[in-house]
Amino acid sequence: MVNIIKQLVPSSIVNKRSYGYGNPVNYITVHQTGNANKGADAEAHANIQSKLNPREASWHYSVDDKESYQSFEDEVKCWAATDGQGPGNTQSVHVEICINSDGDYEKAVKNGAELVKHLLDKHNLSLNDVKQHHDWYNKNCPAQLRAGKDGITWGDFLNMVEGEKTAEVSKTQVKSATTTKSSTKANLDVDGIPGEETIEALQVYLGTTADSYISDQVHNQATDAFASGINFGNGKKGSLVVKALQKLIGATQDGLLGPNTVGMLQKYLGTPYDKVISDPSAMVKELQRRLNKGNL
Ligand SMILES: [Zn+2]
Repeated sequence: MVNIIKQLVPSSIVNKRSYGYGNPVNYITVHQTGNANKGADAEAHANIQSKLNPREASWHYSVDDKESYQSFEDEVKCWAATDGQGPGNTQSVHVEICINSDGDYEKAVKNGAELVKHLLDKHNLSLNDVKQHHDWYNKNCPAQLRAGKDGITWGDFLNMVEGEKTAEVSKTQVKSATTTKSSTKANLDVDGIPGEETIEALQVYLGTTADSYISDQVHNQATDAFASGINFGNGKKGSLVVKALQKLIGATQDGLLGPNTVGMLQKYLGTPYDKVISDPSAMVKELQRRLNKGNL
């Protein structure tokens, strides 16, 4: 976000160069300064206003390729839209984008878009509420955006404003996705045959040690149905991934894979209930499908 330097004009200038306070801020209006002179940057435009602009004009923000200056509070009804007491002057916040030739034009436009996005958020407005000076009065302003200077059109500018929004939203989405298990999608063959790959995907999904082995199991129909990935032992400790799975499906958490856990998993997944892992198994297929979707 472009930095905003507050350099508010004294109240005597608010009285002489605006309709005073009471702006409900229903719109954000974009202008370009029309001054390509070197040094005609945001600070210079703010200084013009601080020393009582000889022109009977005023605007809230000036923005260039480095920063933005605020000269009037948003609630002031500035004289920028050339529409007298119309909605442009009395219901809008006005942003002047600098076009000084010693500045980076594209960067200034981008900073302008950031500032506009900030103001939309601040006042709970939408992209439809972004106006051109030209929308209020038949003046060719913002002239360079209207002409598509350097290949940047008004539509591109609105996309930049919207892009600020999209970028932030997608950042938020990425952040929340990484903190939920729904982002851990597997890439399993849906063959209905359980083995090391399915075990590892389950371990990743359930957040247990992903070593692709179910440890300390005893022989039964379920464990013997695995193509690979079962480490047999005395069954006193069981397996962490089986415990985590049992917790998820509401089975007794003993860490041992057997007919009861298979039956509960079949009920949980909605596949035929017989407490047996067939070859191939509809239950394992459904498990693999769901692990691929990242949603057990
Ligand atoms: Zn204008």
